[in-house]
Amino acid sequence: MGSDKEQGVLVTGGAGFIGSHTVVELLERNVPVIVIDNMTNATASKDEEELPPVLQRIKKIVNPQQGEKLHFIKGSFGDVELLEKIFTKYAISAVIHFGGFKAVGESKELPMMYYSNNVGGTLKLIQSMQKHNVTNMIFSSSATVYSAPGPDDLPLSEKSLTGSCTCPYASTKFFIENILRDLCYADKNWTVISLRYFNPVGAHASGEIGEDPKGIPNNLMPFIAQVAVKRREHLNIYGNDYQTKDGTGVRDYVHVVDLAKGHTAALDVLPKKNGFHTYNLGTGIGTSVLEMLKYFGEVVGRELPYKICDRRPGDLAVMYCDASLAEKELGWTATKSVKEMCEDLWKFQSKNPNGYLP
Ligand code: UDP
Repeated sequence: MGSDKEQGVLVTGGAGFIGSHTVVELLERNVPVIVIDNMTNATASKDEEELPPVLQRIKKIVNPQQGEKLHFIKGSFGDVELLEKIFTKYAISAVIHFGGFKAVGESKELPMMYYSNNVGGTLKLIQSMQKHNVTNMIFSSSATVYSAPGPDDLPLSEKSLTGSCTCPYASTKFFIENILRDLCYADKNWTVISLRYFNPVGAHASGEIGEDPKGIPNNLMPFIAQVAVKRREHLNIYGNDYQTKDGTGVRDYVHVVDLAKGHTAALDVLPKKNGFHTYNLGTGIGTSVLEMLKYFGEVVGRELPYKICDRRPGDLAVMYCDASLAEKELGWTATKSVKEMCEDLWKFQSKNPNGYLP
């Protein structure tokens, strides 16, 4: 006998940058979504009763029937009582776990907050899932789990060395992956797909949703976008003396909508898999800071100001991936170019110079 509970996928951190784009992809495939987000890193509505702006905009992107399949619960993914209510009310087929703190610099200052929220919260989430026989998870991991690569270690494949992470944020991703691997080894009911993101950038092509960092952006592209709308005077380039094509850092930038589709691809293969699996999600192409600035300037129609500064402690010269395993096993490849990443980011930023705030 089937349950009369509403079915759906639980998305932790669904109001965040990658989470929100994934929610769009899920709804467009008519998958009901239950978002849990405590809004510490996302813009809340002034009126507590209203949906957060990002979710209101998602409802504008998808059709009304799909919009009705979106449910929002304000709270933390590690809140056991709240999870109890959610797992009792809904028949959750899988959890996509984006929730967690993500600022590299902050994690060095407040490591215990990072370990407690990211690792401690995830343990509670896993235990609640276990209790309700929900044993499918897609985990939002990161390229930062890889040990610093030398020139001969690139591109990074899933077999590349992990650990010895450069900051507590990265360590939380590394530890959670290990916890999930051990769990899958011990309990054969579990299937976990851990997606290691390279550098997610861009925005939804509608310009409705995108990245809306609180305070001064830590990452390159949101910072450049704020320079373009004149919220910031110039870009500080952290070093031009790396062993790279133009001396600036090289990264594997991937369009956030491509990344979101990586999650729906993973969701499709979950029932056919068992145990713990990791996949790189990137393009396999390295682009330098100066190149990104130039591409963005071309989209905006003027050169954007920058200053060369000291290197940022802990930064690596070059990171890019071999994404062939995701292609082989998930049927996923990144399709969008760096130009499209810049165009879509500019669409969002120029339409929303102050992010989701009016
Ligand atoms: N970067 C920079 N100025 C900034 C932010 C980043 O020059 O304000 C550089 C950084 O040194 C790195 C690249 O841009 O080479 C990507 O940095 P981001 O923080 O976006 O990603 P991550 O370093 O975590 O891969």
